[in-house]
Amino acid sequence: MADAPRLEVDHVTCRFDGREVVHNVSFAVRPGEVLCLLGPSGCGKSTTLRVIAGIERQVAGAIRADGHTLSDGHVHLPPEDRGVGLIFQDFALFPHLTVGQNVAFGLRGGRADSTRRVAELLERVDLGGYADKAPHMLSGGEQQRVALARALAPRPRIMLMDEPFSGLDNRLRDGIRDETLQLLKEEGTAVVLVTHEPEEAMRMADQIALMRDGRIVQKGAPYNIYNAPCDKAAAAFFSDVN
Ligand code: ADP
Ligand code: MG
Repeated sequence: MADAPRLEVDHVTCRFDGREVVHNVSFAVRPGEVLCLLGPSGCGKSTTLRVIAGIERQVAGAIRADGHTLSDGHVHLPPEDRGVGLIFQDFALFPHLTVGQNVAFGLRGGRADSTRRVAELLERVDLGGYADKAPHMLSGGEQQRVALARALAPRPRIMLMDEPFSGLDNRLRDGIRDETLQLLKEEGTAVVLVTHEPEEAMRMADQIALMRDGRIVQKGAPYNIYNAPCDKAAAAFFSDVN
Protein backbone atom coordinates (compact mmCIF):
# COMPACT_ATOMS: atom_id res chain seq x y z
CA MET A 1 0.00 0.00 0.00
CA ALA A 2 1.55 3.26 -1.15
CA ASP A 3 0.47 5.18 1.93
CA ALA A 4 1.69 2.74 4.57
CA PRO A 5 4.73 4.08 6.41
CA ARG A 6 8.04 2.67 5.35
CA LEU A 7 9.79 3.79 8.53
CA GLU A 8 8.19 4.17 11.94
CA VAL A 9 10.02 5.66 14.89
CA ASP A 10 7.71 4.94 17.79
CA HIS A 11 8.23 6.70 21.15
CA VAL A 12 12.01 6.29 21.13
CA THR A 13 14.12 7.36 24.09
CA CYS A 14 17.91 7.19 24.20
CA ARG A 15 20.14 7.77 27.20
CA PHE A 16 23.89 8.26 27.59
CA ASP A 17 25.33 7.90 31.10
CA GLY A 18 21.89 8.41 32.63
CA ARG A 19 21.23 11.58 30.56
CA GLU A 20 18.31 11.48 28.13
CA VAL A 21 19.50 12.90 24.81
CA VAL A 22 16.46 11.66 22.82
CA HIS A 23 13.12 11.72 24.60
CA ASN A 24 9.95 10.01 23.38
CA VAL A 25 10.54 10.77 19.70
CA SER A 26 7.95 9.53 17.17
CA PHE A 27 7.56 10.03 13.45
CA ALA A 28 6.71 8.05 10.31
CA VAL A 29 8.08 8.33 6.77
CA ARG A 30 6.39 6.96 3.65
CA PRO A 31 8.15 5.63 0.52
CA GLY A 32 9.48 8.53 -1.53
CA GLU A 33 8.98 10.98 1.31
CA VAL A 34 11.62 13.21 2.94
CA LEU A 35 11.38 13.99 6.64
CA CYS A 36 13.83 16.60 7.93
CA LEU A 37 14.99 16.41 11.53
CA LEU A 38 15.73 20.06 12.12
CA GLY A 39 17.21 21.66 15.21
CA PRO A 40 20.28 23.30 16.74
CA SER A 41 23.52 21.49 17.39
CA GLY A 42 23.32 19.02 20.28
CA CYS A 43 19.53 18.55 20.21
CA GLY A 44 19.74 14.81 19.44
CA LYS A 45 19.37 14.62 15.66
CA SER A 46 22.39 12.41 14.96
CA THR A 47 21.61 10.15 17.89
CA THR A 48 18.11 9.60 16.50
CA LEU A 49 19.62 8.58 13.14
CA ARG A 50 22.09 6.26 14.86
CA VAL A 51 19.28 4.53 16.72
CA ILE A 52 17.39 4.00 13.45
CA ALA A 53 20.58 2.64 11.86
CA GLY A 54 21.17 0.32 14.81
CA ILE A 55 24.51 1.88 15.77
CA GLU A 56 23.02 3.02 19.10
CA ARG A 57 20.38 1.25 21.12
CA GLN A 58 17.32 2.97 22.56
CA VAL A 59 16.17 2.39 26.15
CA ALA A 60 12.50 2.62 25.17
CA GLY A 61 10.38 2.59 22.02
CA ALA A 62 10.54 0.77 18.72
CA ILE A 63 11.88 1.17 15.17
CA ARG A 64 9.91 -0.54 12.39
CA ALA A 65 10.40 -0.80 8.63
CA ASP A 66 7.42 -1.82 6.49
CA GLY A 67 5.74 -3.04 9.66
CA HIS A 68 8.66 -5.27 10.71
CA THR A 69 10.44 -4.55 13.96
CA LEU A 70 14.09 -3.53 13.58
CA SER A 71 14.49 -2.88 17.29
CA ASP A 72 12.43 -2.69 20.45
CA GLY A 73 12.76 -4.04 23.99
CA HIS A 74 13.38 -7.55 22.64
CA VAL A 75 14.67 -7.33 19.06
CA HIS A 76 17.85 -5.60 17.93
CA LEU A 77 18.78 -6.21 14.29
CA PRO A 78 22.40 -5.33 13.46
CA PRO A 79 22.91 -2.34 11.14
CA GLU A 80 23.77 -4.51 8.11
CA ASP A 81 20.43 -6.35 8.31
CA ARG A 82 18.22 -3.26 8.44
CA GLY A 83 18.01 -2.30 4.76
CA VAL A 84 19.11 1.19 5.74
CA GLY A 85 21.62 3.39 3.88
CA LEU A 86 23.69 6.10 5.54
CA ILE A 87 25.31 9.24 4.16
CA PHE A 88 27.25 11.56 6.44
CA GLN A 89 28.72 15.02 5.98
CA ASP A 90 32.16 13.50 5.77
CA PHE A 91 31.27 11.11 2.98
CA ALA A 92 34.64 9.38 3.37
CA LEU A 93 35.39 7.52 0.18
CA PHE A 94 38.18 4.96 0.48
CA PRO A 95 41.13 6.87 -1.02
CA HIS A 96 43.04 3.74 -2.06
CA LEU A 97 40.10 2.31 -4.04
CA THR A 98 38.84 3.51 -7.42
CA VAL A 99 35.45 5.16 -7.80
CA GLY A 100 34.01 1.88 -9.11
CA GLN A 101 35.50 -0.12 -6.23
CA ASN A 102 34.06 2.37 -3.76
CA VAL A 103 30.58 1.88 -5.21
CA ALA A 104 31.04 -1.92 -5.36
CA PHE A 105 31.89 -1.84 -1.66
CA GLY A 106 28.24 -1.01 -1.05
CA LEU A 107 27.21 -4.30 -2.65
CA ARG A 108 27.27 -7.44 -0.57
CA GLY A 109 29.76 -10.19 -1.36
CA GLY A 110 31.32 -10.86 -4.75
CA ARG A 111 28.19 -10.48 -6.80
CA ALA A 112 28.66 -11.68 -10.36
CA ASP A 113 26.67 -8.76 -11.74
CA SER A 114 28.42 -6.14 -9.63
CA THR A 115 30.32 -4.56 -12.55
CA ARG A 116 27.08 -3.93 -14.38
CA ARG A 117 25.33 -2.63 -11.28
CA VAL A 118 28.25 -0.28 -10.51
CA ALA A 119 28.14 1.11 -14.06
CA GLU A 120 24.38 1.58 -13.80
CA LEU A 121 24.69 3.39 -10.46
CA LEU A 122 27.44 5.67 -11.76
CA GLU A 123 25.20 6.51 -14.74
CA ARG A 124 22.39 7.38 -12.34
CA VAL A 125 24.54 9.95 -10.58
CA ASP A 126 25.92 11.31 -13.87
CA LEU A 127 29.37 9.81 -13.42
CA GLY A 128 29.38 7.27 -16.24
CA GLY A 129 32.98 6.60 -17.29
CA TYR A 130 34.40 7.54 -13.87
CA ALA A 131 34.73 3.97 -12.56
CA ASP A 132 38.51 3.74 -12.90
CA LYS A 133 39.34 7.19 -11.53
CA ALA A 134 40.80 7.75 -8.07
CA PRO A 135 38.59 9.69 -5.63
CA HIS A 136 41.15 12.53 -5.27
CA MET A 137 40.74 13.34 -8.98
CA LEU A 138 37.08 14.26 -8.40
CA SER A 139 35.54 17.50 -7.15
CA GLY A 140 33.72 17.61 -3.81
CA GLY A 141 30.36 17.43 -5.53
CA GLU A 142 31.44 14.46 -7.65
CA GLN A 143 32.74 12.65 -4.58
CA GLN A 144 29.44 13.24 -2.86
CA ARG A 145 27.66 11.65 -5.81
CA VAL A 146 29.97 8.62 -5.58
CA ALA A 147 29.03 8.33 -1.90
CA LEU A 148 25.39 8.49 -2.93
CA ALA A 149 25.88 5.74 -5.54
CA ARG A 150 27.62 3.61 -2.90
CA ALA A 151 24.77 4.14 -0.44
CA LEU A 152 22.17 3.32 -3.12
CA ALA A 153 23.98 0.16 -4.27
CA PRO A 154 22.25 -2.31 -1.94
CA ARG A 155 18.85 -0.69 -2.71
CA PRO A 156 18.08 0.51 0.82
CA ARG A 157 14.43 1.01 1.70
CA ILE A 158 15.43 3.83 4.01
CA MET A 159 18.15 6.46 3.58
CA LEU A 160 19.51 8.33 6.57
CA MET A 161 21.43 11.49 5.72
CA ASP A 162 23.30 13.45 8.39
CA GLU A 163 24.06 16.98 7.15
CA PRO A 164 25.30 15.49 3.87
CA PHE A 165 25.44 18.80 2.02
CA SER A 166 27.16 20.95 4.67
CA GLY A 167 30.64 20.34 3.33
CA LEU A 168 29.81 21.51 -0.21
CA ASP A 169 30.26 25.06 -1.38
CA ASN A 170 27.09 27.03 -2.03
CA ARG A 171 27.51 27.07 -5.78
CA LEU A 172 27.36 23.26 -5.99
CA ARG A 173 25.01 22.58 -3.14
CA ASP A 174 21.62 23.47 -4.60
CA GLY A 175 22.04 21.33 -7.69
CA ILE A 176 23.44 18.35 -5.84
CA ARG A 177 20.84 18.26 -3.11
CA ASP A 178 17.96 18.60 -5.58
CA GLU A 179 19.39 15.82 -7.77
CA THR A 180 20.03 13.58 -4.77
CA LEU A 181 16.54 13.94 -3.40
CA GLN A 182 15.02 13.47 -6.87
CA LEU A 183 16.92 10.20 -7.28
CA LEU A 184 15.83 8.93 -3.87
CA LYS A 185 12.21 9.84 -4.57
CA GLU A 186 12.31 7.97 -7.88
CA GLU A 187 13.59 4.89 -6.05
CA GLY A 188 10.75 5.18 -3.53
CA THR A 189 13.23 5.46 -0.69
CA ALA A 190 12.05 6.88 2.64
CA VAL A 191 14.53 9.61 3.60
CA VAL A 192 15.38 11.09 6.98
CA LEU A 193 17.54 14.16 6.41
CA VAL A 194 19.24 15.79 9.38
CA THR A 195 20.02 19.48 9.18
CA HIS A 196 20.49 22.47 11.48
CA GLU A 197 19.61 24.89 8.66
CA PRO A 198 15.93 25.91 8.44
CA GLU A 199 16.42 27.06 4.85
CA GLU A 200 17.57 23.57 3.83
CA ALA A 201 14.63 21.92 5.59
CA MET A 202 12.17 24.31 3.95
CA ARG A 203 13.58 23.44 0.56
CA MET A 204 13.96 19.69 0.89
CA ALA A 205 11.33 18.40 3.31
CA ASP A 206 7.87 16.95 2.84
CA GLN A 207 7.65 16.98 6.64
CA ILE A 208 9.75 18.78 9.21
CA ALA A 209 10.22 17.49 12.74
CA LEU A 210 11.58 20.37 14.79
CA MET A 211 13.81 19.13 17.66
CA ARG A 212 14.96 20.81 20.83
CA ASP A 213 16.67 19.26 23.85
CA GLY A 214 16.02 15.73 22.64
CA ARG A 215 12.32 16.25 21.93
CA ILE A 216 10.25 16.89 18.84
CA VAL A 217 8.50 20.17 19.66
CA GLN A 218 6.62 20.52 16.37
CA LYS A 219 5.98 18.38 13.31
CA GLY A 220 4.30 19.21 10.03
CA ALA A 221 4.56 20.45 6.45
CA PRO A 222 7.32 23.07 6.01
CA TYR A 223 5.04 26.03 5.36
CA ASN A 224 2.73 25.16 8.23
CA ILE A 225 5.66 25.23 10.64
CA TYR A 226 7.11 28.35 9.06
CA ASN A 227 3.78 30.19 9.17
CA ALA A 228 2.69 28.95 12.58
CA PRO A 229 5.75 28.13 14.72
CA CYS A 230 4.76 26.55 18.03
CA ASP A 231 6.52 29.11 20.24
CA LYS A 232 8.91 32.08 20.27
CA ALA A 233 12.01 29.92 20.12
CA ALA A 234 10.72 28.12 17.03
CA ALA A 235 9.81 31.45 15.43
CA ALA A 236 13.30 32.81 16.16
CA PHE A 237 14.86 29.69 14.68
CA PHE A 238 13.01 30.30 11.39
CA SER A 239 13.44 34.07 11.38
CA ASP A 240 16.45 34.02 9.04
CA VAL A 241 14.61 32.14 6.29
CA ASN A 242 13.27 34.31 3.51
P1 ADP B 1 22.94 16.78 17.07
O1 ADP B 1 23.20 15.78 16.00
O2 ADP B 1 21.57 17.34 17.07
O3 ADP B 1 23.98 17.89 17.07
P2 ADP B 1 23.69 14.61 18.87
O4 ADP B 1 22.65 13.58 18.67
O5 ADP B 1 25.00 14.40 18.20
O6 ADP B 1 23.10 16.05 18.50
O7 ADP B 1 23.97 14.77 20.42
C1 ADP B 1 22.94 14.96 21.37
C2 ADP B 1 23.58 14.99 22.75
O8 ADP B 1 24.06 13.71 23.09
C3 ADP B 1 24.76 15.93 22.87
O9 ADP B 1 24.70 16.56 24.12
C4 ADP B 1 25.94 15.02 22.76
O10 ADP B 1 27.04 15.55 23.44
C5 ADP B 1 25.43 13.75 23.42
N1 ADP B 1 26.05 12.53 22.88
C6 ADP B 1 26.04 12.13 21.59
N2 ADP B 1 26.66 10.94 21.44
C7 ADP B 1 27.08 10.58 22.68
C8 ADP B 1 27.79 9.43 23.21
N3 ADP B 1 28.17 8.42 22.42
N4 ADP B 1 28.04 9.41 24.53
C9 ADP B 1 27.64 10.42 25.36
N5 ADP B 1 26.98 11.51 24.92
C10 ADP B 1 26.69 11.60 23.60
MG1 MG C 1 24.70 15.82 14.50
